[in-house]
Amino acid sequence: MQRILLPFIGLMLSSLTASAQLRILSGTPIGSPSVDYSSGSVSTTVNQPADAFDNDYSTFYASYNRSYTWVGLDLGTKHVIKRIMYSPRKGWGNRMVLGIFEGANQPDFSDAIPIHIIKKAPTEGVMSTTPVNCSRGFRYVRYVGPEDARCNVSELRFYGTEGEGDDSQLYQLTNLPVVVIHTQDAKQVTSRSTYVDGWISVISEDGRGFFTDTLQIRGRGNGSWEVSNNLAYGGTIWHKRPYRLKLAHKARMLDMPAKDKNWVLINNLGDKTLIRNLVAFEASRRFDMKYTPAGRLVDVILNGEYQGNYQLCDKIEVGTNRVEITKMTNTDNRSPEVTGGYLIEIDAYANSEPVHFTSTYGNPINVKYPKHDDITTSQLNYLRNAFNNMETKLYASYYTNPTTGYASVLDVDAFLKNFLIGEFSGNTDTYWSTYMSKDRGTNEKFTCCAVWDFDLAFENDGRTYPINGNSNYMSLSNKSSAAGNMKSFVGRVVNSQTERIKELYNYARNYRGFTPEVMEAYVDSLAKVINQSQELNFMRWPILNIRVQQNFQALGSYQAEVDFMKKYIRERFAWLDNKIGYEPMIDGIHNAMTQMAGSILSGEGQIQLVGFTAGCRYQIFTLDGKLLMQNEVTPGTCDIDVRPGFYIVKVSGSQGQKRQQKLLVK
Ligand code: CA
Repeated sequence: MQRILLPFIGLMLSSLTASAQLRILSGTPIGSPSVDYSSGSVSTTVNQPADAFDNDYSTFYASYNRSYTWVGLDLGTKHVIKRIMYSPRKGWGNRMVLGIFEGANQPDFSDAIPIHIIKKAPTEGVMSTTPVNCSRGFRYVRYVGPEDARCNVSELRFYGTEGEGDDSQLYQLTNLPVVVIHTQDAKQVTSRSTYVDGWISVISEDGRGFFTDTLQIRGRGNGSWEVSNNLAYGGTIWHKRPYRLKLAHKARMLDMPAKDKNWVLINNLGDKTLIRNLVAFEASRRFDMKYTPAGRLVDVILNGEYQGNYQLCDKIEVGTNRVEITKMTNTDNRSPEVTGGYLIEIDAYANSEPVHFTSTYGNPINVKYPKHDDITTSQLNYLRNAFNNMETKLYASYYTNPTTGYASVLDVDAFLKNFLIGEFSGNTDTYWSTYMSKDRGTNEKFTCCAVWDFDLAFENDGRTYPINGNSNYMSLSNKSSAAGNMKSFVGRVVNSQTERIKELYNYARNYRGFTPEVMEAYVDSLAKVINQSQELNFMRWPILNIRVQQNFQALGSYQAEVDFMKKYIRERFAWLDNKIGYEPMIDGIHNAMTQMAGSILSGEGQIQLVGFTAGCRYQIFTLDGKLLMQNEVTPGTCDIDVRPGFYIVKVSGSQGQKRQQKLLVK
């Protein structure tokens, strides 16, 4: 009997103990300066922090400042908070919407993390109650009012138990990770050039993952920065700013591949789906771009205020798991050292950057690496000459010659893949801003190394709508924008690579899941995972009914925006299929040519072409579409020695018949 009873009694005792310890927590009221509404000045007598803890609904705390203002308690010792109760100033319940409760152990709240966000207006004259699911103990707790609300809290209660607690369970605002940043003295981040010191905490994995560091933060971006400073509506300027983060220590943020100090928070203010960049990145992966920027959807809190949904993302820079090219020092001034690596951005805004030049054919080049304070004159001269040399070859009469024309200095496949991703997404900005790298080595070519910036893509720009209404490629049409003379540059490459474009496109369509079904399913999966966060985001920034940036419509709901993008994707595949000449594969056999005699087989260390007639030619490609070898097929049996691996084998007949197969050679 005792064996059964003892655990039962133990359970009763522990639950009694717990409830006995859960009590209203008392402490010293703390908060930012109060306002006297009658005079509009700072007050030390009315609307004080203590007024939020006096059991009187008619008195309230109100702050003098309109931003980053708060009221709370110094509990004296650490407590694990289990429950919060709150009530708004009478008549002003809406001012507490998106207010955030935080706990901290530093008196300046630099280490504060959220424990609750208010998602709907609380009823006045009663206490609203919420449980708190955060196991860390805090000495300091506070309520931070949303921007421009002056807090306006009539009553606050914190319930909990004394103790250190632990980090086994922290709080996320939604299912997405939350990035929490506090700046020194809650200084606002309003500059793109001056960093502000601060602290970052990231809570992920449903509250079980925690990362923290010190950092520097500043603004970033061009178009996205401007729109975040000029979106005025309803008497308010809506500063959903894009940020650059520089951690004190290298880290793999949210398990992204690069271990690095430099990250960016993309605001996606003009993109009401909030996911256009990530959908384009998925296309980049399906085209097997060597590098695709990593990005994660997150909620962001800055100095206790909810800032909305952002994309935490790689900064495009030279580094492991980013643009992987040879790093340079300022002593690398002779060949071969001086030949690379370089990272440039063909950039319409290049002339506002510290190191830039204009190429022979009028393209503005922003030199990103080596960095402006590291690059030497010899390096800059080499880079400028190399780029100009590429243009010379591109504009020469022999430009299509594979050994002397542009293909000898430009990575054609990477250029065409970048082009196709731009065309698929219908990105106005593909050649407004184009990243290229040039690695070390006299034979190393300029390479499109990273796709970037798709907030105006996927039919989100009135200047290019309707994208599918053009007969020509978007990048070559007169509707799209381009830095300098890039449109001419692109035209000469693209118009001389019709066959290769077709091969790369068909390869992605047939072998890499680059299909309407897969891409639409990807959109749906992102829309599902972002759902809670987009609701909060559009409470914070109620723009679903107004046009932002280059929007030519406002569809009024998040789902309508997503559905519109999916419709565009479906129609764009149809347009591209027709334009490029999509040839679907059926069971690995080219459907246009099923009558062609012969078989493509794999042998040990060999590809065997059996039963083809005279006059056929074969081409063997790697899985990423690189042509390895080509020759005439020996009629009867033709054995081709290759190393083990996967290959794409194409055989074409003298009448234009084709057969294509993917196979594994052991
Ligand atoms: Ca009160």
